Amino acid sequence: MNIKIKKYNNNFIYNIIKKDFKKNKYLLLRTRFPPEPNGYLHIGHAKSICLNFELANLYNGHCNLRFDDTNPLKENIKYINAIKNDIKWLGYKWNKKIHYSSEYFPKLYIYAKELIKKGLAYVDELTKEEIREYRGTLTQTGKDSPYRNRSIEENLTLFKKMKNGYFKEGEVCLRAKIDMKSTYIIMRDPVLYRIIFQEHHQTKNKWCIYPMYDFAHCISDAIEGITHSFCTLEFQDNKRLYNWILENISIKNRPKQYEFSRLNLKYSVLSKRKISILIEKKIINNWDDPRIQTISGLRRKGYTPSSIKNFCEKIGVTKQNNLIEFSMLEYCIRKELNEKSIRTMAVLDPIKLYLYNIDNNYEETFIVPNHPKKPELGTHKIIFTNTIYIDREDFKEKYEKKYKRLKIGEEVRLRYSYIIKAEKIEKDLSGKIIQIICYCNLNTLGKKPINKKNPAVIHWISVKNSFPSEFRLYEKLFNIDNPDQEKNFLSFLNPNSIIIKNGFIEKNINKTIENQNYKKLSFQFERIGYFCIDSVESKKNKLIFNRTVSLKDTWNIKK
Ligand code: ATP
Ligand code: MG
Repeated sequence: MNIKIKKYNNNFIYNIIKKDFKKNKYLLLRTRFPPEPNGYLHIGHAKSICLNFELANLYNGHCNLRFDDTNPLKENIKYINAIKNDIKWLGYKWNKKIHYSSEYFPKLYIYAKELIKKGLAYVDELTKEEIREYRGTLTQTGKDSPYRNRSIEENLTLFKKMKNGYFKEGEVCLRAKIDMKSTYIIMRDPVLYRIIFQEHHQTKNKWCIYPMYDFAHCISDAIEGITHSFCTLEFQDNKRLYNWILENISIKNRPKQYEFSRLNLKYSVLSKRKISILIEKKIINNWDDPRIQTISGLRRKGYTPSSIKNFCEKIGVTKQNNLIEFSMLEYCIRKELNEKSIRTMAVLDPIKLYLYNIDNNYEETFIVPNHPKKPELGTHKIIFTNTIYIDREDFKEKYEKKYKRLKIGEEVRLRYSYIIKAEKIEKDLSGKIIQIICYCNLNTLGKKPINKKNPAVIHWISVKNSFPSEFRLYEKLFNIDNPDQEKNFLSFLNPNSIIIKNGFIEKNINKTIENQNYKKLSFQFERIGYFCIDSVESKKNKLIFNRTVSLKDTWNIKK
């Protein structure tokens, strides 16, 4: 594995661990990544995955994968499979077997009883709304529930009844007995268990009481012997509860919680709840839509594991919340694709061009490099004939002085080939240009024009050498910087977040695609961008290309 010691040893978390090692040189570092299987992983999770796994690797420790599955209403086995697949794809190996918070349900139940026996938990009959009301606010202290002072025996009996399905959902719950006047709202008798009658993907119908995140998380960490439990800053206050629970039950291990800042990315929503809404409303197609920054969406768009890991390294781990530029993510993949992509020509919006001074049966083959600086990446053949496609935007009918590409009476060079001059156009009845008629100067192959400046170069594909393809160009999904912060984030959608074009690639490139594992291939369509083959919808007879990233940074340019 590609361990980048450089970056993971200069953050505040590393310094904490270093100190811990000074105190105990036999420390075995154990971290964990605890996703809730209620959606797919996104780039924010990748930040947490890289931190936990890289630190464990760095210190020969280990990192557990634990599904935090305490809410059967939202969870699904398909999310578990997708999460496992994404972590593997990123190149990380979890320690031994996968863990589930649900595997600890029997133990958690016993620890809950221990709290009751110590007079530190009680069964409450207030409704959800009443609990909220009694809890108070930041400026107003809370109020004790009238059920707070039941006897231990009564609480034990009621809790057992809860477990045995005697009560309805919402009728009762188990709460910790801490302090309704605490300045920390989280410490005002937090709920530890609630009733949910829903089959669970792991424990089936064995349980109808489910522990809350705060109760299950710290105990699961302790059971697994986790030494350092990293989470995002919103859990800063929850740390009090995390420590309170562990201090008040008879468990040996004492994991420590540390918080770091969440990744927020410009123009993106990274909350699973919001992504689900985008899918439900059919704004995007699924969790792997290339317009969202899920791991599967990024993969489908052509991102590689190393580009995502490099990005996570670059943004670093701090305690300051900030909004990361989208162009930083794009920089990481562009840099990588620039090194390895096969250069080839594609015409996305084709218009025919006819070279009238070349015979119909004339054919010339050019051998062109797959990469300008890497001969080891080989070459491919292109065919030149008298009828070719060029991109519609490389020709302008109306004269514009500043326009440097093809226009009537002016010259351009066809990439790797001859200089041509546009003389006439042919239109259909609706006035649409159907063909540009040009003169081809056959004396210009590989030669600079005498006494003239080099003309602009445009890309092209001979009709004979063309293979039809669909191209999907992705733009920002939102037209504001920080849609994740907006309640009504759906009002800031970019209506043109996907642009579909139908054009051509070179036939020879199609052969390369047929002969290799296309999932690993990336292309730089010259002057257009970096593309990959869509792994879901592309077919042998209809290739679909996704634009991974443009050649230059365009996100910062206001369109
Ligand atoms: P979401 O808000 O996207 O639903 P979550 O925090 O509820 O995220 P979990 O599955 O509970 O998602 O998270 C698993 C781990 O990933 C947690 O440790 C969490 O702190 C971390 N994580 C989630 N989102 C981010 C993010 N944007 N940046 C960094 N870490 C994150
Ligand atoms: Mg969560």
